[in-house]
Amino acid sequence: MSPTLIGMESEEIAALLRKLSPSPTPSFRATQVYQAIYQQRVASAGGILTLPRELRAKLEANVPFGLPTAAQCFQSSDGTQRYLLRLEDGKSVESVLMPEGERYTFCISSQVGCPVNCQFCLTALLGLERNLTAGEIVGQVLFIAARNGLSADVSKLNVVMMGQGEPLLNLPNVLKATRLLVDPDGIGLSERRLTLSTSGIVPKIEELGRQAVRPKLAISLNASNEEQRQKLMPITRKYHLKDLVDACRSYPLRTWEHLTFEYVLLKDVNDTDADARRVVKLLANLHCKVNLIALNPGPGIPYGTPNPERVAAFQQIIKRSMPCFIRKPRGLDIYAACGQLKRMEPDLVTLA
Ligand code: SAH
Ligand code: SF4
Repeated sequence: MSPTLIGMESEEIAALLRKLSPSPTPSFRATQVYQAIYQQRVASAGGILTLPRELRAKLEANVPFGLPTAAQCFQSSDGTQRYLLRLEDGKSVESVLMPEGERYTFCISSQVGCPVNCQFCLTALLGLERNLTAGEIVGQVLFIAARNGLSADVSKLNVVMMGQGEPLLNLPNVLKATRLLVDPDGIGLSERRLTLSTSGIVPKIEELGRQAVRPKLAISLNASNEEQRQKLMPITRKYHLKDLVDACRSYPLRTWEHLTFEYVLLKDVNDTDADARRVVKLLANLHCKVNLIALNPGPGIPYGTPNPERVAAFQQIIKRSMPCFIRKPRGLDIYAACGQLKRMEPDLVTLA
């Protein structure tokens, strides 16, 4: 992918300006460009009005800006919106906007498709098409914010990297995007409002823990024992449950932080009381909470959704030992809920 303005850090912008301008370009020009992209959220290089006209024109002629465009937008009856965004190379990826009262959560993708073959997830059926660049990850946030007039105030905004893809298999770009999202001189999102969810790529969890700037960590547990987990998430044959829990135990949490474990409940597969008790045992003494997600169905997914009573009973058992919540599905009717991102056309397909 050719570099785009969105996704560049200050030094990269400075280097670009030096290349484009034969006369020395003052370093404050780089700051002006950086702030125009990430703070003022201009829609093109032509909109950076603090720059001399000539430099603006050079930027426009030489570097793509990198804001994605909307190929399609689906609107759910619960207020959720799913965007199919067109990227520079013609590929498309999905992002979801979930309004909740005064607040907003953006669910963004880290890859086009996903290489991890979880048996309950529609995105897995796409396979991996490619990694997203840092600019394409940040671009999703800038696009949704601009489209919905949410540009000014980031204090009411949460961003979750829970869309298409396994973020820890695209870690360098995810980390660069994180720096751009949380830079107080840039987009200015609080680190506490940015979460990454992983299927459990153990060595990368350790690498993430070593970063000074990083999102909060959520881990898709999804099973209560090794055998079950390997069946549901074949990649975990490589990254064992015991090693995952060990990595969680030694993960350097910040003072304000806890781990989140996600658990997709599949009817008659991993939703029994015995499963719930095993989850409690596995996670004993970890500073964590558990989010239960009753399966969101889709064509080709060979599992059922447990009824609400079963989900509540599972929650009750876990709740005795640690905080446990049921994640409300958002945008089920438009294929925007967890595990449903596969560029579905809701008008053409009926829910399984
Ligand atoms: N790849 C990352 C993040 C994206 S998936 C990960 O797996 O963690 C986001 C969440 O959706 C994960 O917790 C995943 O377990 C869950 N999920 C996947 N398919 C689902 C489905 N069909 N119904 C409900 N949740 C699902
Ligand atoms: Fe990929 Fe996450 Fe879906 Fe698994 S659940 S296939 S890791 S997106």
